[in-house]
Amino acid sequence: MTIHEHPTHCWIGRKTCGCVMSIAGDDMNRKELAKFVSQMIKDGLIPERITWEDCKGRVISEPTFFNCPHLPEPTTPEQPTLLTGL
Ligand SMILES: [Zn+2]
Repeated sequence: MTIHEHPTHCWIGRKTCGCVMSIAGDDMNRKELAKFVSQMIKDGLIPERITWEDCKGRVISEPTFFNCPHLPEPTTPEQPTLLTGL
């Protein structure tokens, strides 16, 4: 019996600019994981399955990991930020 303290693999969601903005352990509930990965795609991220070790290495080696210096993600505002009457 081996006790896993961490998942063997994980999913990362990479933005088109190359920055990783989402991460999920592979040991998650399958349904939850499927939901998570499809959410990544909806958010415009490119899901990629990598090993846990690889993932740990990338957190250290990629300065843009969870820290995208590029343009903000295109979001549709609820309403235009147009101030009137000022
Ligand atoms: Zn970026």
